[in-house]
Amino acid sequence: MQELIAGVRARYWHRLEDGRLQCDLCPRYCKLHDGQRGLCFVRARAGDAMVLTTYGRSSGFCIDPIEKKPLNHFLPGTPVLSFGTAGCNLTCKFCQNWSISKARVLDRVQERASPEAIAEAAVRSNCASVAFTYNDPVIFLEYAVDIAEACRARAIRTVAVSAGYICAQPRREFFGHMDAANIDLKGFTEHFYRHLCSGKLAPVLETLVYLKHETKVWFEITTLLIPGENDDPAEIDALCRWVMENLGPDVPLHFTAFHPDWKMRETPPTPPDTLRMARHIGKDRGLRYVYTGNIHDPTGQSTYCHACDALLIGRDWYDLTGWNLTADGRCGSCGAPCAGVFERVPGQWGRRRMAVRVAELS
Ligand code: SF4
Repeated sequence: MQELIAGVRARYWHRLEDGRLQCDLCPRYCKLHDGQRGLCFVRARAGDAMVLTTYGRSSGFCIDPIEKKPLNHFLPGTPVLSFGTAGCNLTCKFCQNWSISKARVLDRVQERASPEAIAEAAVRSNCASVAFTYNDPVIFLEYAVDIAEACRARAIRTVAVSAGYICAQPRREFFGHMDAANIDLKGFTEHFYRHLCSGKLAPVLETLVYLKHETKVWFEITTLLIPGENDDPAEIDALCRWVMENLGPDVPLHFTAFHPDWKMRETPPTPPDTLRMARHIGKDRGLRYVYTGNIHDPTGQSTYCHACDALLIGRDWYDLTGWNLTADGRCGSCGAPCAGVFERVPGQWGRRRMAVRVAELS
């Protein structure tokens, strides 16, 4: 029996001559007959239109430190209201969030929330921003954009945690509504993307170049280093060189530790020394802000002045342990500017993670 599909009308699709509908949101270009779902599972064809089946539905809300996204140069120390929906448009075998990203629509939905209710909940819980995270928000673009508009009306910022796997036209709309992003650069070879994610590297690099040169979105990059897959020093070196040449020295780069998960449970965790090695390569290539993540490494997680090497922001996990920035975001020791979006004083949220229900806050 054919599944009954319902949702809000989606954008970015067109009809093919053979009668199928092609989704033009991401470079997979799924071509669907009536009743079929795309690879992401949440966009589907219902009759003569494409629909988004997860509009207004979330997999639960948490208040996190902004450093957990990870964003180290965007409103440090502040709490961010975080949520995801279900599904994903990549199929990473190493997914660290698979219970959400691989979820079917209905089994993960824990709470319904309108864009206005989410913005109101962020205001009431003193969050500086709302993050679309846990699964890739490009697949619920229509919902994310409406939330971002509701947030802007309440002076709440929005953060996208994304793999950047999106086509050019929707990319403009999506990131046109975001204040900040963390983009996963999962590896630096087409082989890695094809073999482990069933995707392509080139569109991700296009997104990064677009963000840098055509938007004001503050963004940072995360690369999960997986033993034997993308931790070769030559590949890390090539990645760092590309970032330096195409994005410049001020885009922060996070090298984070893999933990055995999803379809890669036999692969060992990333040794801390691999992360430190990658950080050194990045700094040697001229990148100013290179971090280690998912390990305890206060040195690798703190921010230093690119001009005089003074400690600017000390971190221990997600706790801020030092602050040496002036009110206008300059080094307190030598006055050199630190790239990022800073308030006069840092937030005080710390490392707490707090589950919340939007219905009770709005
Ligand atoms: S967004 Fe989903 S339906 Fe659209 S092309 Fe990508 S995977 Fe397919």
